[in-house]
Amino acid sequence: MITKTRIWLSSPHMGNLEQEYVREAFETNWIAPLGPHVKGFEEDITEYLGESSYVAALSSGTAALHLGLQLLGLGKGDLVLCQSFTFSASANPITYLGAEPVFIDSEADTWNICPDLLEESITDLLRLGRKPKAIVAVHLYGMPYNVEAVHKVAEKYNIPVLEDSAEALGSHVNFQKCGTFGDIAILSFNGNKIITTSGGGALVSKNKNWKEEAVFLATQARDQAPHYQHSRIGYNYRLSNVLAGIGRGQMRVLDDRVAARRNNYAFYRDQLGEIDGIEFLQEPQGFFSNRWLSCILTPSFDIREHIRCELEKEDIESRPLWKPMHLQPVFEKARSYTNGTSEALFNRGLCLPSGSNLEKEDLWKTVEHIKKALV
Ligand SMILES: *Cc1c(COP(=O)(O)O)cnc(C)c1O
Repeated sequence: MITKTRIWLSSPHMGNLEQEYVREAFETNWIAPLGPHVKGFEEDITEYLGESSYVAALSSGTAALHLGLQLLGLGKGDLVLCQSFTFSASANPITYLGAEPVFIDSEADTWNICPDLLEESITDLLRLGRKPKAIVAVHLYGMPYNVEAVHKVAEKYNIPVLEDSAEALGSHVNFQKCGTFGDIAILSFNGNKIITTSGGGALVSKNKNWKEEAVFLATQARDQAPHYQHSRIGYNYRLSNVLAGIGRGQMRVLDDRVAARRNNYAFYRDQLGEIDGIEFLQEPQGFFSNRWLSCILTPSFDIREHIRCELEKEDIESRPLWKPMHLQPVFEKARSYTNGTSEALFNRGLCLPSGSNLEKEDLWKTVEHIKKALV
């Protein structure tokens, strides 16, 4: 059971309307991966992101990445440039399609894919006669990647971008929302994300055909016929109508959730920002992060681990920053272009309790024990 006493990193936070939508699903017997809430949820997301965003609600963010890469025409042996500093779900679907991830390290300003290294990797691979088929860029912890520079490189070499916005619903750059930058973008509604359907995701695109193609592939690729006929291989990736009901309720409170998480970050920064050796990632000019997780950088691996273990003793959950993909055993043989940034972040960084449902006293307690661990 999820107990009240433990202070969690990021736990689900329901509003007032989710159960009403779920009850409606039960009453109308739409207990299936189709129904009015699926369409309603998609419309809610479109309304949030802007008119020209076509949305396919799916069973997970990972499923959305898998379909997105397939829509970009990825196949066996193709190379995909993927941000190394991320959760494994950004990279795994590349391998589902028999393609090869090439990992690109981060820049210090956003912790996301480094535009210079990205260009370097492209020119290097072009020299080898291996033009990459796609770029997977991630808005990690809610901080947008350097959208302008990354897309400039992508356009220069005519390589499509899959924007992994799983952690960044509610973030924006110069008021353009994350989830609207890529040729295809994905969202996640997993239990730990800023809003959740318990499990779920979405594929977003400005191209209406891609949305329709995604839905087609997500529902077993059924041809139009009275019987079941298939000309292509499909998947069972559509979102359940029951879970879409939860999503509709969650969309109503998204702005509150963003505000609450940003308040967590502001509190931590207020309390810990003056301490020698503790650093925070700040928003570059024009960037707005949903602050999905509040993270600190400590002076060293040992100090980070000491803080983490002291918090754990108090039943406070914290977690090292993502371990870069180029350092993961499973991707040992993958090509990578590195500059040491993500490895240093992994060694020194810690994610602090960041849920929108944390009590003020939880935040005070966390800060108190971090300070104690540092003396
Ligand atoms: C959560 C997450 C995903 C995958 O989403 P799921 O819905 O859990 O499959 C992909 N990328 C990143 C960066 C994530 O944090």
